[in-house]
Amino acid sequence: MTTSTSPEDDLVFLDETAAHGFNLPRGATGVWRVLIIDDDADVHSATTFALGNLEMQHRPLEFLHAFSAAEARALLKNERDIAVILLDVVMEMEDAGLQLVRYIRETMGMTEVRIILRTGQPGYAPEIDAIRDYDINDYKTKSELTRIKLFTTVTAAIRSYEQIRAINASRRGLDLIVRAGTELMALQGLQNFAAGVITQIAGLLSLTPEGLLCVQENLDGEEGEEAGLFVIAAAGNFLDFINQPISAIGDPRITGALGQALRERRNIYGDDFSALYFAGKAKRDFAAFLNTRTPLDDIDRRLLEVFCGNISVGLDNVLMVTRLHHFAFYDTLTKLPNRTRMVEIINEMLATPARSEATLALVDIDHFSETNDALGHQFGDLLLLAVAGRLQSHPGKQLVVARISGDTFGVLGHADLVNPPMILAQFEKPFSIDGQDVQLSATTGLVHLHDYEGGGTDALKDGDIALKRAKLQQRAGHFYFSHSMAVDVRERVRMMHALRTAFEEKRLFVVYQPQIDLATRQATGAEALLRWKTADGTFIPPDLFIPIAEYSGMIIDIGNWVMLEACRELVRLRSLGFVDFMMSINVSQVQFRHPHFLDTLHKALLETHAPPAFVELEITESMAMEDPDVLIELLGQIKQTGVSIAIDDFGTGFSSLSYLQQLQADRIKIDRAFVIEITNSSRGSSIAEMIIQLGRNLGLAVIAEGVEDERQADILTELGCPLAQGFLFARPMTADHLAAWLKSDGLA
Ligand code: C2E
Ligand code: CA
Ligand code: CA
Repeated sequence: MTTSTSPEDDLVFLDETAAHGFNLPRGATGVWRVLIIDDDADVHSATTFALGNLEMQHRPLEFLHAFSAAEARALLKNERDIAVILLDVVMEMEDAGLQLVRYIRETMGMTEVRIILRTGQPGYAPEIDAIRDYDINDYKTKSELTRIKLFTTVTAAIRSYEQIRAINASRRGLDLIVRAGTELMALQGLQNFAAGVITQIAGLLSLTPEGLLCVQENLDGEEGEEAGLFVIAAAGNFLDFINQPISAIGDPRITGALGQALRERRNIYGDDFSALYFAGKAKRDFAAFLNTRTPLDDIDRRLLEVFCGNISVGLDNVLMVTRLHHFAFYDTLTKLPNRTRMVEIINEMLATPARSEATLALVDIDHFSETNDALGHQFGDLLLLAVAGRLQSHPGKQLVVARISGDTFGVLGHADLVNPPMILAQFEKPFSIDGQDVQLSATTGLVHLHDYEGGGTDALKDGDIALKRAKLQQRAGHFYFSHSMAVDVRERVRMMHALRTAFEEKRLFVVYQPQIDLATRQATGAEALLRWKTADGTFIPPDLFIPIAEYSGMIIDIGNWVMLEACRELVRLRSLGFVDFMMSINVSQVQFRHPHFLDTLHKALLETHAPPAFVELEITESMAMEDPDVLIELLGQIKQTGVSIAIDDFGTGFSSLSYLQQLQADRIKIDRAFVIEITNSSRGSSIAEMIIQLGRNLGLAVIAEGVEDERQADILTELGCPLAQGFLFARPMTADHLAAWLKSDGLA
């Protein structure tokens, strides 16, 4: 012993013991805890005396004391965040100290704490092996430990403890972040996601979740400071403020911190709170406020920075899906419900007593396409807006107006309002567009809903039938749907027979439309498309006969045959040297849900020797939405065969992010409608762009369908869409033509 003991040492000793409670905050941020284990009371007081005023990074030491190995074990069970243990090797027994070390490292699994061994007996030293195996920082005889030496030894040990803890914490944190990312992805909708973010951050910091996440109010809003800040998720004390403006909380500290985070685009750390910034695309940033109660240390801050960066991508994706969802149900030009939404609205209406008085009208503007072509799209858009406004302007009773297709509006409401005279009255006065008076007329097809048998989709179809009938007669006319007009069942039956015969007589065949790498303009694959040429040489489009094949169940056999044909063609093309070529095959809902589908696929692959890695199945997005659990499992099994999956007509339905992730799709096909929009609509490329971005964020390949001109191809390339398919590059062609085409144009 080199340091002497004095009465004050005991004082220090007592004070320190009294000062610490059991429930220190996590990480005991305020102090470094040092545990002294020694059976000699003098050593305890001498050590505390020697180190008592040591401070590292503004954190003083705090001492814990144990006077035997047994006492140390008991104490270690209850205490956390001990940085350094000063341990007497020889206590009750010669090896009591080493046994304790083994216990600490192996039984307790405490790997972070630094251990300094001390012995009173010079010459006694544990073997080098023990020092290495038990990760012992230092071994000193007590006489060696002068005050200064003790000081430096402990300082070094604390420093190394801090480093180890930092490394471990960030490893744990990164692990949590990665897991949080995937867990969050599985959440549907913005609010769930946002709530998940709060919980995950709280988990990351080992705090009880108490905080909120907010976002700028307006979906398409301009960048407006704190003004439009809305709470979209909350936890703890803030729960009541969900969906309210941030000002409702009435806490200037919170408003101020969130505002600052958004303005300065960074995280703001206060003494007892953090305001986190999440960069969103599309001018929509997010910010979160968290009650942390104590200041966060460096490690926690670093973790949060990584987390925020990581989560921004997720928030963006959720936001995009929310917007896609909006696009899926509302027309962006007129802001009216679209056809899909109208089907839902009619269904809702059919479930209420109001149906007995209700009528659906489809109102089609006469000569709209001529006007549109003559005066331009912009003028046409204004015209549609004006008509939409007029149709909605009906005062009094409730009326639903929707945009069903280009120039057709749906009007649903009480028969007193929805009838030919009332609708025609809306078109009596000219519309004023761009300072010009334009006289319009409209043709109407109507359906009484009181004893209607079908659902919303049928009602719209029947409305269409009535509309067509009305148009046949005259412009500005109208027609009520009647059952005698119903889709001619006999016609359908006739077609069914014809299709069966055609299939048997091999008048169905498969054509192939190349898929192109936009950068190199070379073919990377082809989509197999079914064709039916009747005996008299006319083609019946698949859009027409595939529903009949599905309806009659024939699609099972036909679809299976298409799969075999396409696989054979793939193998043939490979034998011709096109080995890097993908074959995409359309699979119908009915076919897919058949219990033997997987078998059929296996057989087709076996029989044709088609390499699964070059076979892709296209399923439509609407299919992906039904019965997700069954689908997810089936797709999982399909993927095990090595075959990949594309989501067809993407953007027309609404698949949530979680589905997309769980479906394990490999690529998404941007529907032709959004490719047309790129050059043809005021909305421009926004949806295509979103889908491309979504694909990128989710790691899915993206291909655009129906590319017809160079401008579309250029814009798609600019937007980062790598692949495309469309008449611009090649029309669907027979197998022989495809091989020839590939030799000449495709793969030069
Ligand atoms: P889809 O799967 O969306 O196929 C793409 C459709 O777009 C094809 O129509 C194709 O010919 C057409 N297309 C390709 N490029 C362009 C373009 O630049 N402009 C325009 N206007 N159209 C383009 P197709 O062959 O008439 O097929 C229509 C639909 O019938 C397909 O839509 C698919 O849903 C279905 N179908 C076709 N073959 C099969 C099949 O073997 N099985 C199943 N279940 N469905 C099929
Ligand atoms: Ca397709
Ligand atoms: Ca498609």
